[in-house]
This record gives sequence, structure tokens and C-alpha cells, in this order.
Amino acid sequence: MAQTSNTDPYNYTMTFDLNRVQNATDIAIARTMMHESIHAYLFSVFALNDSIYEADFPLAWAKFLEDPNKDFSTDEGLHHEQMAQSYVDALKFGLIDIYGVSDYKNEEYWENIALGGLIETAWFDTTSVYSSTRKRTIKDQNSYEDTNHEYSRGSLCN
Ligand SMILES: [Zn+2]
Repeated sequence: MAQTSNTDPYNYTMTFDLNRVQNATDIAIARTMMHESIHAYLFSVFALNDSIYEADFPLAWAKFLEDPNKDFSTDEGLHHEQMAQSYVDALKFGLIDIYGVSDYKNEEYWENIALGGLIETAWFDTTSVYSSTRKRTIKDQNSYEDTNHEYSRGSLCN
């Protein structure tokens, strides 16, 4: 639905696919904006300096030790692994801050939506954190929001 690029040092551009935005619910758009904001943040902190990796980004630190010359700021796969490790709860609670929790939109639902940007990643395919049944639900619920399906829990933006 969107991508974030590092246009100049410390300048980031989020580009949204208008057709997909027009056919997605507010929930899918909010999820995507948060996901892309984390990309921009990781672009920024990974470009800043290497010393922060060890304390705050152990995954990036391990990769840095393997290959100090690699540019982690643009490594989308690493961004996604770091998001899976560190930002699923932040995104989930960010969505809860906006939409609240109800029977219909409980914490599990918001966690499923928070994982939406990670569905197409190698991490999602291989993680054992979620059962295959839960992964199916995560894919379905995000797809519903992406397409304003009758089972979606959000609504189209005007
Ligand atoms: Zn991403």
C-alpha cells in the first residue's frame, strides 16, 4: 500500500498507492502509516551511528558484527525483523489508542492488524510465535481491511 524512502539525509518520503488507499479501510491506512513511520525511524537511527545498535537493536548489532560495511539503514528485511522483535506491541497499542478495545476489536485483533506489514516477510513465514491457524487469521483480517471487505471492522475514508 505504501513505501518509505530516504530521499536525503534525515528526509524521508512516504509514498502511498492511491488506488489501494481508496479501497482500504481507515484501519488499514492507520496501520500502514504507523508501519511506514517505523521504517523512517529505523532509516534515521541506523544511519545515525553504530554505537546505538548494541543496546537498542540487538538484531542489527549482530548483523553489524558479521558485516560492518553493510548499510543497515536501507535493509528492508532487517527493518521488518526488527519491527517483529521490537515494535508489534507499539503498533498494537497505537491502534488501540486510536480505536479502543471492544468485544469486536479486542487486543488479539489489534495485534493481528499490527502484524499486517510483516505478512509478506521471511520472518512471518518462519516464526513459531504464531500458529498456522493464527497466521491464516492475521492474513485474512488484514486482507479484509486492505479491501474494505464485508468482514472488515473499519470503514472507507472519504
Ligand atoms: Zn515495511
